[in-house]
Amino acid sequence: MFSKVLVANRGEIALRVIRACQELGIKTVAVYSAADARAPHVREADEAVLVGPPPSSQSYLVGEHLIEVALRTGVQAIHPGYGFLSERAWFARAVREAGLVFIGPPAEAIDAMGSKTSARQLVMAAGVPVVPGTTDSVRDADEAIAIAQSFGFPVLLKAAAGGGGKGMRIVRAASDLADALASAKREAQNAFGDDAVYIEKYIEGPRHVEIQVLADMHGNVLHLGERECSVQRRHQKMIEEAPSVAVSPELRARMGATAVAAARAAGYVNAGTCEFLLDTNGQYYFLEMNTRIQVEHPVTELVMGLDLVQWQIRVAAGEALPFAQKDFTPRGWAMECRITSEDPSNGFLPSTGRIEYLHLPTGPGVRWDGGIEAGSDIGLHYDPMLAKLIVHAPTRALAIARMRRALRELTIDGIETSRGFHLRVMDHPEFQQGAIHIQWLEQNLPALTAPVSDPSAIRLAAVAAALVAHTERQAGHVASGAHAAAMGEASLPSATVRGEPTGPTWREVARREALRSS
Ligand code: ADP
Repeated sequence: MFSKVLVANRGEIALRVIRACQELGIKTVAVYSAADARAPHVREADEAVLVGPPPSSQSYLVGEHLIEVALRTGVQAIHPGYGFLSERAWFARAVREAGLVFIGPPAEAIDAMGSKTSARQLVMAAGVPVVPGTTDSVRDADEAIAIAQSFGFPVLLKAAAGGGGKGMRIVRAASDLADALASAKREAQNAFGDDAVYIEKYIEGPRHVEIQVLADMHGNVLHLGERECSVQRRHQKMIEEAPSVAVSPELRARMGATAVAAARAAGYVNAGTCEFLLDTNGQYYFLEMNTRIQVEHPVTELVMGLDLVQWQIRVAAGEALPFAQKDFTPRGWAMECRITSEDPSNGFLPSTGRIEYLHLPTGPGVRWDGGIEAGSDIGLHYDPMLAKLIVHAPTRALAIARMRRALRELTIDGIETSRGFHLRVMDHPEFQQGAIHIQWLEQNLPALTAPVSDPSAIRLAAVAAALVAHTERQAGHVASGAHAAAMGEASLPSATVRGEPTGPTWREVARREALRSS
């Protein structure tokens, strides 16, 4: 086993990997940009090395430099997390060539699955069903129109190098194709430095169901069941759960076998995910394979009872998986909400500022995978995902009730977050019935993001504002006054200990009450 690992990432996933290492008795080296000097992952690691200024292109993405740091600090392996360098085959190769272990799949497997078109060709040859469409990029609009007409509109233009929903365009009529193709190519060129775009049939109302795969170096390839990630905005996941209401044990076994076949075709080792669309007839189609740990991996960990990140590390160190496929049956229900620094009532505009107060939910079945704390400055340099709130309960209905309870306990003060939006999703009857698909969220967005308009909530907010003003006037009498005033709000006097505000503030109480009555 490794004695020291470098974590080439930041935020919640860096902390997640550090925790996995700590439990395995492995020392860690964190890397950080100047913007993250006070970040929790820097403090939690055994060592930390400043690798550059805030822009990730000059810090977290400079692979050669990270490898130098790894060699200098004497680690044996690098964990890339997700995003950043995790799916760059050149980086995996360079790590290997430096005599270090890349905690992830072989560079060749990343290459094989890296382009959506080559992945489609590879898995089709292994008998995996893919969404109808081309396996090569299209040359021009005329060719694209001819292809689209062969399987009918609507179609989806997709960047071959795509990721994060970029370079995608839905086209409903031949007359729109030329413009859409030009703009998809432009976006793909800007985002990925590659303007190759291909065409898929656009499937209406499917679910996004993905299969977790885990493979070792000894030929064992297992699947760990599905995650449903249909609650999406702009092709980006917001809520994930395991298992899926739409997947029976029989379908799980079939989709699992398909994912294992795809992984084997790519010579896959380590943790990976095959993403599928599942249509209303129970047909499923391979979308792509993500060759890394995914944001939503905790829901699988909770229902399957294992630590995926620790297994990534153990497999990379050469251990054989001690499991058989029959060991993996989901137990209970797990759900994850991505807590982002975005303002849902304002078009999900990124919100920046300092987290002034943070109260985390606890209690039965609640897990918080976060990378923030009170005092954290949230800027625009990195992804707006601050943390993941994850719950586990015996049934889906109880998981929703538990998520609701945990979201209500959560207080993040100082910036706007997606918390209230998630509460509304939990309360939505269609979500509660599991009647969701990948377009569901966008279709229901107005109701799920409207500002609170309830008259009693407005009254309450007014009362709270008056209380804040009053407490601020009284601030001279309260030890925390100066501090509270400096934070732009007053703390409840009863919750003040040794001059430090520790309890909820008037603003939080007002916000909670507003949510309760909304
Ligand atoms: P990316 O790599 O950019 O995330 P994916 O291929 O994984 O792209 O697709 C992202 C999301 O886009 C899917 O989860 C799904 O919601 C939607 N999508 C992708 N392909 C199709 C399709 N053929 N029809 C309908 N929706 C699709």
